[in-house]
Amino acid sequence: MTSTNDIRSAFLDYFSSHGHRIVPSASLVPQNDPTLLFTNAGMVPFKNLFTGQETRSYKRATTAQKVVRAGGKHNDLDNVGYTARHHTFFEMLGNFSFGDYFKADAIEFAWNLLTKDFALPKEKLLATVYAEDEEAAGLWRKITGLSDDKIIRIGTSDNFWRMGDTGPCGPCSEIFFDHGESVFGGPPGSPDEDGDRFVEIWNLVFMQFFEEAGGVRNPLPRPSIDTGMGLERFAAILQGKRDNYDTDTMRALIEASAAALSQDPDGPFKSSHRVVADHLRSTAFLIADGVLPSKDGRGYVLRRIMRRAMRHLHMMGAKEPVFYRLLPALIRQMGAAYPELVQHQALIAETMKGEEERFTALLERGLALLSDEVSRLGDKEALPGDVAFRLYDTFGFPLDLTQDALREQNRTVDENGFSAAMAEQRARARAAWTGSGDAAAETVWFDARDKHGASEFLGYSSEKTDAEI
Ligand code: ATP
Ligand code: MG
Ligand code: MG
Ligand code: MG
Repeated sequence: MTSTNDIRSAFLDYFSSHGHRIVPSASLVPQNDPTLLFTNAGMVPFKNLFTGQETRSYKRATTAQKVVRAGGKHNDLDNVGYTARHHTFFEMLGNFSFGDYFKADAIEFAWNLLTKDFALPKEKLLATVYAEDEEAAGLWRKITGLSDDKIIRIGTSDNFWRMGDTGPCGPCSEIFFDHGESVFGGPPGSPDEDGDRFVEIWNLVFMQFFEEAGGVRNPLPRPSIDTGMGLERFAAILQGKRDNYDTDTMRALIEASAAALSQDPDGPFKSSHRVVADHLRSTAFLIADGVLPSKDGRGYVLRRIMRRAMRHLHMMGAKEPVFYRLLPALIRQMGAAYPELVQHQALIAETMKGEEERFTALLERGLALLSDEVSRLGDKEALPGDVAFRLYDTFGFPLDLTQDALREQNRTVDENGFSAAMAEQRARARAAWTGSGDAAAETVWFDARDKHGASEFLGYSSEKTDAEI
């Protein structure tokens, strides 16, 4: 079985042998875009090269980029534990052309890598194209020999990529792998496309136009290429699995979580172990990149992720901090590829342990209150918003933690009631408040955060420049 670590290296080596510079992963905290919450795609560190603001000594690059999608425009947090193919932290493999090669080469590179170097059977692959992109459809047919029914035209914005309201944009092609008839799901563009049968593995973006304010699109004199492939999804396929969480790396983390609690990784708490394994990665990598749990901004997203994992651990019987004890298992899996984990091991462990120590007492009391309140609810009745707010305000339960806890019981939270309770408290606080100019700015931020949630707020303001492969 090819390990995830070997797949990553093979990908980078392949593109290196085709003239691409191997560039190390950039930080999860975007260095060139203050409006973006986290690096959420491989192209983010290269934005200024695509717009032409910056040039470098190379015109082709390849990366394995650390990515977090737990806030803003791309928020996959609620998928984790429930889908076979979403993580909050994952690695995006990519190859990039900055005004160098274009569609034909991008398609050929991808196709040869998949079908020759990794020997994926051609009949299990499909490609989508943007409906108006006849050129791409023709190239797929010519280069790969795919039949017309395997080249699917999609007319929606899913297959048209834009960096922002203005700037580079263009059609894209997504490559899908077909897990076969025994798995439920329809091909891309069909009504049941959300099933697990057809999994998107690789997205090729053809940056062909520059969009001016007002919507006029001019052809770029030197079009560019941006691609992104999820390493975990690719590894699952190469390792003969249908589920990302069954790959070597994820499985080792799931087993560490189960072992720490003397449990069966595939027992009744299976999905909790998956959540813990996923959140362990986002937590450790975010701290390694300098994010610390806090009450706003990126730190609040991290805190939400950490507390959520901690609730799952607590539910599985953890009586004292265990989350940080899983860190060595992660370092065994990923420390060689990402030395920052090793370098910052002590800080990561202390931060995890400290947060868990602080939260455990609150968590226990909060959960007791929650189960007491739930026992009084009628069948299918939502949890009243003021209770969810009390859990947030007094016990430090992020709203999504409460929702996650209730989801297991098929219950929801009255979100409007939650917002109303939040607004009421704000009004009280404001009436009592006399502060400095700085605090005023903070209040504005908190108002927005209260309204949209921390990540949504940052995500909202980043909508214009948010990157999507
Ligand atoms: P999906 O439609 O499955 O949510 P996407 O179109 O949002 O994926 P892209 O933005 O195109 O994903 O990202 C490029 C690649 O990164 C995808 O083709 C996929 O392989 C991978 N990927 C995207 N989101 C995730 C995630 N949450 N966890 C793991 N891999 C992901
Ligand atoms: Mg997505
Ligand atoms: Mg997609
Ligand atoms: Mg995509």
